[in-house]
Amino acid sequence: MQGVLKKVWMCKNSFIVTIDGPAGSGKSTVAKLLSEKDGFFHIDTGAIYRAVGFLFKGNPTKDDIENLHLEFYKNSKLTIMYNGKDMEGLIRSESVGFYASKCAKLSYVRDFVNQKAKDIAINGKFVIDGRDCGSVIFPDADLKIFLTAKIDERAKRRAKEINGNMDKIKKDIILRDMQDEKRNIAPLIRPKDAIEIDSTDMDIESEYLLIKKLIKEKYEDYNS
Ligand code: C5P
Repeated sequence: MQGVLKKVWMCKNSFIVTIDGPAGSGKSTVAKLLSEKDGFFHIDTGAIYRAVGFLFKGNPTKDDIENLHLEFYKNSKLTIMYNGKDMEGLIRSESVGFYASKCAKLSYVRDFVNQKAKDIAINGKFVIDGRDCGSVIFPDADLKIFLTAKIDERAKRRAKEINGNMDKIKKDIILRDMQDEKRNIAPLIRPKDAIEIDSTDMDIESEYLLIKKLIKEKYEDYNS
């Protein structure tokens, strides 16, 4: 595994895989597997939008963002802290997802998140998931994936993940996807050079193995 990655790091210091796609398509789940099994550091950019959404209920001013002191810790995963508190337990509901999507329309919030992601993705191998990771934040990423799944499947996965009502979640994510696709700045799109994977009929292990295969194909001696 070290061979080619080492070569890539020597050139650019970082090896970047981006995974973009709509809500509930399984981006973070497969990114976590790449992190646990293959040593990629996972940056969940949606979590940063969620933290901002949670703190400002979707309406931060530019001043709020300039004075915002979120702390980022790079342990086995990225931990986002505010006032000494880990945000993870506070940000995963659909209502926070909706606030995150509102904040994500604001250019100064996007600049803040993009800069954090770039600051973190230095010296190592990274898997970064979100909506514009391959199109805007890392246009030169080594591998770009666009992960989709049919809406019913996505709603089912999210309902299981957060233990919620599937019909309500389906409505919520349709609305959120619409907001994300229609916004003026960095809308959710499939980057031109991304490989699209429809994961509707795939289980998570197959998704993981396919992405791993794509990485291997790109770098012949990925596993050597
Ligand atoms: O991925 P997740 O569902 O946690 O993202 C929450 C929201 O954050 C998305 O609906 C989207 O509005 C926003 N987001 C974004 N760009 C990213 C990641 C997330 O606009 N790169």
